[in-house]
Amino acid sequence: MTVNNKLKTEHTDLHIDEDTGFKISSDFERFNQINDMFSRAFWDDSVRTKLSDAFFDSHRVQPKGKKAPGFRQKDFALRNAAWAISDTFSNRGAENGTREGFQSWMECEAEIADEKLHIENVQEYTIEFKQIAKLFGADLIGITALDKRWHYSKRVDTREFIPVSNELPGNYSHVIVMGHAMDKDLVDTYPSALASSAAGFEYSHEAAIVTQLTTYIRSLGYEALGSMNDTALVVPYAIQAGLGEYGRNQMVITPEFGPRVRFSKIFTNMPLTHDKPVNIGITKYCTQCDKCAVACPPKALPLGPPSTERLNQSTIKGVKKWSADCEKCFGYWTKIKTDCAICMRVCPFNRDFETLSGKLFMLLVDSPLQFLALWWEKKKGIAKRAKPDMWWQSLLK
Ligand code: SF4
Ligand code: SF4
Repeated sequence: MTVNNKLKTEHTDLHIDEDTGFKISSDFERFNQINDMFSRAFWDDSVRTKLSDAFFDSHRVQPKGKKAPGFRQKDFALRNAAWAISDTFSNRGAENGTREGFQSWMECEAEIADEKLHIENVQEYTIEFKQIAKLFGADLIGITALDKRWHYSKRVDTREFIPVSNELPGNYSHVIVMGHAMDKDLVDTYPSALASSAAGFEYSHEAAIVTQLTTYIRSLGYEALGSMNDTALVVPYAIQAGLGEYGRNQMVITPEFGPRVRFSKIFTNMPLTHDKPVNIGITKYCTQCDKCAVACPPKALPLGPPSTERLNQSTIKGVKKWSADCEKCFGYWTKIKTDCAICMRVCPFNRDFETLSGKLFMLLVDSPLQFLALWWEKKKGIAKRAKPDMWWQSLLK
């Protein structure tokens, strides 16, 4: 048995990597969250700068607008307001060093009911549960088995930014992964403080939806632990749960919203059936496309094939994939004082799949005629940034 398989729990489908296409080598190690850029920006002197401090401060202090469109007072105000619910959740455990949703799981006040809901037909119940999740506002939902490989080896205590135990406080066998679609018109204005509102809105939605659904499951007598970016890597979980495929831009590209999605998760022992990973030609398309890498201002994304190369400690060890140079990427974020997702905006999958052209594009991608979709996009070139001031003006129409 390989190291990779030893880390899989009794719940994990041992053949899942064949379905996802994940290539895990024998030197694989679980990722220690202390090494992600949002943690390193606090303890690692090679990352922490005046600019990185100002980046985080800009989310909390009175917005000081600049003259540039998309970075004015109104833009920063909208961004910070969009993040407000998420921030309220993540700040409530500050005294305990638990930054919920980012460096620690979400606490839930609801007790687990003594009486368990009797679930006779798990397949039917899973359909019902997915509809309930959508009622609460999830745009996408998939379910997969717990897979310890994607759990941080340590989480971060945010009082001193030190690694601490990341053992789950219960017995869980399934992971419910939810997708939260970002507003396309806002995303099209990346990079700007205005565009970052699209991320903030979805983090705030995630915090509410995850709290509501964990309350619901616990009230049915089952264990449930809510999670956003904390506790485990959500990208491999979203792929295993069948929500999309891995892209060169390091994002999960979904058939419904392309890369314009944020993901949350709930660990539970409620009986549920699992979804299968999808393969509709998206990762294959990325092997022939490089728009995200070309458009990235600090050139943080790779142009070549997937590899196991680690540019620095913020890359997971032993996974063959496209990996960004996170130091370059985050360095750019600190310069513009807001997050960047140019690699999301310029992606050909950032389109409206309800339109005729969107449907045709996806049909071509998932067919032997994929080369036509690539040719079509090559002719179009790299999508231009929408003007932030036009977004504000559109509110008056
Ligand atoms: S977020 Fe911006 S800086 Fe980072 S990889 Fe994407 S395009 Fe590059
Ligand atoms: S821009 Fe092209 S290469 Fe990059 S993620 Fe999108 S489809 Fe893949």
